[in-house]
This record gives sequence, C-alpha cells and structure tokens, in this order.
Amino acid sequence: MPTCQYCQHRWTWKQTMKVTTTIDTAYTCPHCGEKQYATKKSRTQFFLLTLIPLTAPLLNFFNVPFWFIFSWLILGSILVLSLFPAVLKLTSTEELFF
Ligand SMILES: [Zn+2]
Repeated sequence: MPTCQYCQHRWTWKQTMKVTTTIDTAYTCPHCGEKQYATKKSRTQFFLLTLIPLTAPLLNFFNVPFWFIFSWLILGSILVLSLFPAVLKLTSTEELFF
C-alpha cells in the first residue's frame, strides 16, 4: 500500500482508489493534505499491469472462444484495479517520465 512520504501515513485500498481517481498527477494525502506523486518505477509497473487485460483482443487471432476473451478482459481489469494500490509507491517530488 502507498505510504505518504510527508506524514508516513499508510493509505488504505479505499483511500488510494478515491485519491487516485483524478487526471492530475498529484495525489492529495487524505491524512495530511500534502501533495504526493507516483514514483516513476510504480508508474511503469502499473503500465505493464494494464497490458494484461489489453492482450484480450489479441486472443481473437488464436481461435480462443469469445467467453474466454471476455472473462480475461473482465478478470484482468479487476486484477489491475485490485493490484494498483499494492504497486503504487509515493514520492514528495514529481518525477518526470523522460
Ligand atoms: Zn500525508
């Protein structure tokens, strides 16, 4: 679970989901109100996670039954969402992608 680098408060899964549902790259700590950012490493890991459900349409080329592709997409999305707070690591300074 992500830990605020400012107040060392550990965010719960619910808090993480609430705080991160924003298009802003800065996440406001629900405990101290300070801005926190996802580390470059955790953003890369999350990006790789999102590739799991996105491989679903590719299965179509291998004669995989539709119900399997559909389940893969749904389960993959649930997996990504449930793992997101575990993968997310916070930093007080914004790290740029490049
Ligand atoms: Zn905090």
